[in-house]
Amino acid sequence: MCNNSKDATREKQLLEMTDKFLERGYKRSTLDKALEEARNSRVPDGEETNNKAIQKLVFPTTHHQSTTLISSTIRKNWRILAADDTLPKVFHEKPLICYKRNKNLKDLLVHTDPTSSYMEHITTQNRGCVRCLGCVTCGHMMPSKTFSHPHTNKQYLIKKTITCKTTHVIYKLMCPCGLAYVGKTETALCERIRGHRSSIRLAYRDGSSDKPVAKHFWEYKHPLSALKFVAIDHIPLSNRAGDRGKILLNRETYWIYELDTVSPKGLNEHISFHSFL
Ligand SMILES: [Zn+2]
Ligand SMILES: [Zn+2]
Repeated sequence: MCNNSKDATREKQLLEMTDKFLERGYKRSTLDKALEEARNSRVPDGEETNNKAIQKLVFPTTHHQSTTLISSTIRKNWRILAADDTLPKVFHEKPLICYKRNKNLKDLLVHTDPTSSYMEHITTQNRGCVRCLGCVTCGHMMPSKTFSHPHTNKQYLIKKTITCKTTHVIYKLMCPCGLAYVGKTETALCERIRGHRSSIRLAYRDGSSDKPVAKHFWEYKHPLSALKFVAIDHIPLSNRAGDRGKILLNRETYWIYELDTVSPKGLNEHISFHSFL
């Protein structure tokens, strides 16, 4: 990112990076400050970076008791190599000894979950909102790798693999008159959709509902079968991500804002930015 010379690409990457940190629960104010610093640290085009070190030989090693011995031996005896005229010029100067992190306990322990063997397949082959083999929920699902903005028709890529059994999901629900509702669920997606179906049925039975989607379906006489949804985002389980529920809430707010689904333009009753504070 730091050495990208194209301004537009660099800015795009900075914003993407900010978005990723935001997902991990960092405060917007902290990120804005860091973003500003990153923008100001830009090296102007044509300006030479300090490449003195690049012209030196680099001897990478890890931190260990014996490392000091190795580096002192190299320095002490380097003149033997430097005196050899048959060697390239780069050998005239002593090498730069640099250190990298040694393997820690986590690296050494066996990984019981062989994610590397199946993650690639999942991420490249089945990305998107995927139907199971035929449950009631999936009858309402619009399986797809993309979804569209309800007003502008802008297309968005679904970056995760989401099924009706996936938890921590953000979904977009649509009614026949083109209004959209953005919701989240920490439990399996099918349970949440079952909740919407049940509240619509109750709205028809009771002639009212305090749930925005059910209320709209009843008021506009939309049949239950007209309920359609697509899963648009998912917060995976990660030991680095922090509070998963809070990140989910942040993403829901982000999508309500991005897809502009607050009433009367959509079926969300309100938007709250409290989760970002
Ligand atoms: Zn299903
Ligand atoms: Zn409608």
